[in-house]
Amino acid sequence: MEALVDLNAIAHNVRILAQHAGDAAVMVVVKADGYNHGAVEVGRAALAAGARELGVTTVAEAVALRAAGITAPILCWLNTSDTDFASGIAADIEIAVSSVAHLEAVAAAARQLGKTAIVSLKVDTGLNRNGVSPTEYPQVLELLASLVAERTVRFRAIFSHLANADEPHNPVIDMQRDRFLEAIATAKEAGLQPELVHLANSAAALTRPDLAFDMVRPGIAVYGLSPVPEISDYGLRPAMTFRARVALVKRVAAGEGVSYGHEWIADRDTTVALIPAGYADGVPRTLGGRFDVFLGGERHPSIGRVCMDQLVVNLGENEAGVREGDTAILFGGDTGVPHPQEWADTLGTIHYEVVCSPRGRVVRSHIGGDR
Ligand SMILES: *Cc1c(COP(=O)(O)O)cnc(C)c1O
Repeated sequence: MEALVDLNAIAHNVRILAQHAGDAAVMVVVKADGYNHGAVEVGRAALAAGARELGVTTVAEAVALRAAGITAPILCWLNTSDTDFASGIAADIEIAVSSVAHLEAVAAAARQLGKTAIVSLKVDTGLNRNGVSPTEYPQVLELLASLVAERTVRFRAIFSHLANADEPHNPVIDMQRDRFLEAIATAKEAGLQPELVHLANSAAALTRPDLAFDMVRPGIAVYGLSPVPEISDYGLRPAMTFRARVALVKRVAAGEGVSYGHEWIADRDTTVALIPAGYADGVPRTLGGRFDVFLGGERHPSIGRVCMDQLVVNLGENEAGVREGDTAILFGGDTGVPHPQEWADTLGTIHYEVVCSPRGRVVRSHIGGDR
C-alpha cells in the first residue's frame, strides 16, 4: 500500500494560489504532517514554487521542519502553556498566542533562554475556537506591549481564522473581517504595530481576494482539493494517490457470500480481486460496498465488508484482465480515478479527512519536485 504524493502537483497548486493572492505573500499550511502528505517534502516543494512561509499547529511540528533544514519563516498557532517553547524560540519559530497564560509561558522561556521570542497574536473574531477572546484581548495587549518594550518579544503579526469561508457570500465573513480590522486598530492604539496581518485560508484565498491582506494561509488547496468544490476546482491538481497491489484474483461461484457477514452474495459466477488494504490502513469500514476501485483501466465496485487488512472488488464475469500484482487505485486525482471528494460525499465528511486517512502500514512516497 502506498500514498504517492506528486510534488509537481503541490508546486502547481502553490502557483495557482500565488496568482490569486496578488501582492500578498503565501504561507503554506503543513500542519498534521502536511495534511498527511509529508510536511517536509511539501514544505520544500511549496517554498521552491514561491511560498514565503510555512504554518503548522504545534512547536514540535515547527521544530521538526527546522531540523530538516527549512530556513523559511515558520509559524505555529496552537500549544498548551506547558509546551517546550524554548525549543521553538531557539529555532526561530514564530509562536502565536491565544491568551495571557500562553504569552507568559513564551516570555518565561525567552527570558530563560536569553533570546527574543517571535510572537504573533491569534485573535478570535468569531470562530470561537483558538484565538484571544475579546474579553482577554486588552490584558494580552498590555502584557505584549511591555514584553516588546523590554525586548523579550518581537511582535510579528496579528491574524485570525474564518468560520464560513467555504460560503463566499456568508455575512459572517464580513463580520469577522470587521472585527479583525478592529482588533488591529486596538493593538495599534496600545502601541503595538504588527509587521503583517493575515486572515485568509484556502477558501478565502480563492474566492475573496479582498481578504488577502499581507499574506494568505492556504492548506487544503495546496494539496489540490478545492475548498469550494461546488463552485470550481480552480485548476488544482490532487497530489495524493492512494493505491495498493492486487494480492489475489479468484473465482466466486453463484450463491457464495463474500467477506464477513456475507453482506454481498454472488448472483452469478464472478471474479473478484482481493486488495490488501483495510480500515487499519485508512479505508473506512463504513465505505464497504459503497465505493469503486480503479483497476485494469476501469472502475470496479467494492463488495462486502471492508476488513482490517483487506477488501474485495468485483471484477464481474470476465475478469477484466486483472492479475495479481496489478495496481489498484483507491483514490487520486487522475481522470477516471475515484476522487477523494467521492469518498467524502459517501462518508458524510470532507475531503480533508479523506486524505488524512491513509496510515499505519501505508508507505508514503514522493515523486517530482525539488527534494
Ligand atoms: C488549517 C488552517 C489553515 C488552512 O485551512 P485550509 O482550509 O486547509 O486552507 C489556515 N489557518 C489556520 C489558523 C488553520 O488552522
